[in-house]
Amino acid sequence: MSSRRCVVVGAGILGASVAARLAGAGLRVTLLDQDQPGRATSRWSFAWLNSNDKGPRPYHDLNHAGMRAWAELAPDLDGGAWYRPSGHVELATAGTGELEARVKRLTDWGYPARLIDAAEAAALEPALRIPPGAPAACFPGEGYLLTEPLIARLVARAESHGARVVTGEPGRVTGLEPGAAPRVRTAVGATLEADIVVCCAGRWTPALAQVPLVPWETEGSAAPGLVVRIGPVAPPGPVRLVHTPDLSLRPHPGGLLHLEAEDAAAAVDLHTPEPGLRRWAGELLRRARRTVRGLDNAQVVELKVCARPLPVDGQSIVGRLPGAPGTYVAVTHSGVTLAAHLAGLITADLTTGTPPAELVPYHPARFPAHRP
Ligand SMILES: Cc1cc2nc3c(=O)[nH]c(=O)nc-3n(C[C@H](O)[C@H](O)[C@H](O)COP(=O)(O)OP(=O)(O)OC[C@H]3O[C@@H](n4cnc5c(N)ncnc54)[C@H](O)[C@@H]3O)c2cc1C
Repeated sequence: MSSRRCVVVGAGILGASVAARLAGAGLRVTLLDQDQPGRATSRWSFAWLNSNDKGPRPYHDLNHAGMRAWAELAPDLDGGAWYRPSGHVELATAGTGELEARVKRLTDWGYPARLIDAAEAAALEPALRIPPGAPAACFPGEGYLLTEPLIARLVARAESHGARVVTGEPGRVTGLEPGAAPRVRTAVGATLEADIVVCCAGRWTPALAQVPLVPWETEGSAAPGLVVRIGPVAPPGPVRLVHTPDLSLRPHPGGLLHLEAEDAAAAVDLHTPEPGLRRWAGELLRRARRTVRGLDNAQVVELKVCARPLPVDGQSIVGRLPGAPGTYVAVTHSGVTLAAHLAGLITADLTTGTPPAELVPYHPARFPAHRP
């Protein structure tokens, strides 16, 4: 087992997690990325660790296990640099009953969640301007990750277990040849032979392995989201991750706030002209000023449209690719929540030869193109 050669394609949060676990399990790992590790989707993610509104139940449980996996890894991997188990405060619109129903469902499922009143919300987050009578809830088990320092540590962990890391043009994979000894071709003309290739190429996965993702480059695609980072934030600033009916926010390094909003995400795509993006950034800044004290001097510091890897049925795609021997694929939305746990399950699958029961619903064979 220890002499098996494994090529992991992609050093985002998923590929870096997988490479670190496989190398730790004794496989001879080569980790390839066409860029520097962690510079793609994982870098711009809201990075909210949660299973707040995810179904069906097995997918909820998978995400909840994902949250626990980071908590377990943190003490062993310098978690102070990247793990932020801050909790989450949500303010909702009165009268819909949606928040109350969700909190009940989550507590019935053993997930930490409770309704709070405006006074408690204000005590938890003094920096927030809380509308009187707004329904509120607290999710103390949630938080966020700082993906850049985390991915740097995962890659270093993989290297400490003997993994070879190849980045930039020499790390760009141009083709996968399935087989008993699958081959990986790179942009500089090299061919790597392996025993197993694990494709963690995020939204670029369909270029290398046949899995159905929502097309992310087309106009009107649902995959891209708008990320706006603002600052400075006068102290104290919010500590937790916060959702209001029209804004999502969390602290970001450098004294910034990371902002997103569902309507902004729906309105933009990778073709939206710069003035349109700037208008949305200004709108999110205005919403943030209405929501958070201490933003009088805040300006937009970073603005990015970033596309998610979005499987067509919304659920992770993880497993050996039918019809492509030696090729294993792992692509998912909520990859920040899921990466540490999926990496453990993938390592168990590859070292025992049997997919853990938790992975079975996510096998690529569920798609018609892969049925015999
Ligand atoms: C705006 C936004 C908000 C989000 N919010 C959340 C959230 O709150 N919580 C959550 O859990 N998830 C969230 N997500 C989703 C999450 O960020 C992604 O699921 C996760 O980052 C995917 O990680 P990855 O490693 O699969 O992909 P990536 O980070 O994109 O990494 C893929 C890597 O593969 C490399 N690569 C691609 N093709 C090749 C090739 N041919 N050769 C070599 N290398 C290649 C790329 O360079 C890249 O480094 C969000 C995503 C977005 C865009």
